[in-house]
Amino acid sequence: MSPVAVTLLAFDDEATSKLLERALNAKRIRTVSVHSASLLQRQVLASAPALVIMQVRFGGEDAFKLAESLLADLPTLPIIIYAPEKNAEILTKALRLGIADILTPPLSTEDIYRSVEQTLNRAQRIGDWLRKEIRRSTTSLRQHSEALETLLELGRDITRNLELDRVLASIVAAAVNLLKAEEGSLLLADEASGELYVRASKNFDQNLVETLRLPVHDSLAGQVIKSGKPLVINSENAQKIKTSYLVHSLVYVPLRQKNKVIGVLSVDNRAVRREFDDSAVTLLSILADYAVIAMENARLYTNAQQERNKLETIFRNIRNGVVILDKENRIVLINPAARQAFHIPESADLQGLPITEVVPNADLKALLERTNADTLTYHEINTSDGEIYSAQCTPIPGLGTALTIHDITYLKDLDRLKTDFIHTVSHDLRSPLTAVLGYAELLERVGTLTPQQTEFVRRIQASVQNITELVNDLLDLGRIESGFDTRKEPVNMVGILKYVLDTLQMQIQQKKQDLQLHIQDNIPTVRGNPIRLRQMMDNLIGNAVKYTPEGGQIQVRLFTTEDQLIFEVSDNGPGIPIEDQPHIFEKFYRSNNTQEPGSGLGLAIVKSIVEAHNGRIWVNSVPNQGATFTVVLPLDRK
Ligand code: ADP
Repeated sequence: MSPVAVTLLAFDDEATSKLLERALNAKRIRTVSVHSASLLQRQVLASAPALVIMQVRFGGEDAFKLAESLLADLPTLPIIIYAPEKNAEILTKALRLGIADILTPPLSTEDIYRSVEQTLNRAQRIGDWLRKEIRRSTTSLRQHSEALETLLELGRDITRNLELDRVLASIVAAAVNLLKAEEGSLLLADEASGELYVRASKNFDQNLVETLRLPVHDSLAGQVIKSGKPLVINSENAQKIKTSYLVHSLVYVPLRQKNKVIGVLSVDNRAVRREFDDSAVTLLSILADYAVIAMENARLYTNAQQERNKLETIFRNIRNGVVILDKENRIVLINPAARQAFHIPESADLQGLPITEVVPNADLKALLERTNADTLTYHEINTSDGEIYSAQCTPIPGLGTALTIHDITYLKDLDRLKTDFIHTVSHDLRSPLTAVLGYAELLERVGTLTPQQTEFVRRIQASVQNITELVNDLLDLGRIESGFDTRKEPVNMVGILKYVLDTLQMQIQQKKQDLQLHIQDNIPTVRGNPIRLRQMMDNLIGNAVKYTPEGGQIQVRLFTTEDQLIFEVSDNGPGIPIEDQPHIFEKFYRSNNTQEPGSGLGLAIVKSIVEAHNGRIWVNSVPNQGATFTVVLPLDRK
């Protein structure tokens, strides 16, 4: 009997209470008395008695009622009732409530001891059992929560950590720890050799790790690979998984990657005879899934890294400058060629900086402003050190723009050399041509020519005339392009247009063409060179007349919008093939849409004149329906 056990006595009958007190104290059982039913509950909580002995009626209350409410809170509290007799009613109530014993008078000390001792012993046994049960379930709960924590931690580790060796090693270690196994391993199948090798292990001999090779076709692990099902062996007799390698128990679970088993995660016991249950398979399967995810992550990461490196190498080695810009024209990527072109040091971190701040170049700024979402824009960028780049902006949906630049300085130099050469040659050709023409004219004066000779002389004169025109065109072009024509004055475009039409009147009549003229009233002047502006109108209307067949229609319009003058020449001639349209303003370019003779210089001269006057020119043409040339010039702002 516990020496510190406290018994709570709830008696109205002082004499019996004292008797019990004396008897129990003699057996070193402490007693506490309570005198009112209303204090009973509080006293029980305060003194935590090992036993309560209660008079069948206490404090005017029924002891069974009081016992019932005590047991509601403390179901294991042993209660003995002292009743005048053990009648059927009392015994039934006692049984129903789980009262430990009924004491009846006359009370002998032996009766008291026996009853109290039996009750306390039983309570002790129940207490022991309860404690054991609680300990058992607490341990199992703790193990479960440890397993969960380990799984959580591993899960986090997999997403955070890209070092595959470390992740796999910690998965195998977790398997060994959680399943209280002696050793564990992760075996992967080598498809080429048809063998399994150790990819990660715990408590394995290093030598074995390096040398272990299990044939897929003839091993327990191979069996799991083939069946795709877990394998548990709990055997009294040790199993051989490899010659001279014996285990008492083991669990193998498959590593499954997209319907394919790529390996096996295993734990085993060699020295102790500890068995594995179903929960071991579940836990190990979860860990196997983790291992597969980790390997897949590592594979994806390596692939992504390789692709990235490949792209980076390409990007770095592209000879042309490439700058990737976001939607706000801030730098996302820039390659070394672009840095070199814009004189930006290799080490400068430009990410996120606006390109126009990093490269304060007016041409680049204009190009970026012109670029809109769905067009491809070509442009020239002149740098302060005299280099010229051909630049192109390509929209990248969802990202921004790719700006590519290509050094064309040498092409420009070549172009200039060519122009200079043509200019010089044209200039030097003029004098001999004048001489040829002069002597051809003299031929008739020095003697009578036969009709055939006269015809030959006429042909010589016509050819020399053509060459002279070509030479004059070339010289004009050279002069306009080099900017020698600096003379600018207010020009009355209506007057010039009428003059041009007068000079072409004959041809128009000969071809029976219908020319309609629309001139807006009060057209202000344009600031420019009247000779060149006349040349421009002459070439455009001349072309319309030349290329439009007999009886065709030509419309000439001259009008203004806000501060611009618009000059438009339309015809219903052969039009210009789509593929030729981007080139017809180039020197010597002729489309094969007609058989008319020409040098291919007219439109090049027109374009140079328009640009020298800060204007723009373009053509709209539907082949076989006609062409419309539009020239826009700024009006003279006084
Ligand atoms: P040229 O008239 O001497 O050939 P241009 O530079 O004036 O040279 O014109 C270039 C080419 O453009 C011409 O060869 C012709 O194919 C085409 N072209 C120009 N104007 C017209 C037009 N009004 N209709 C059709 N084709 C035209």
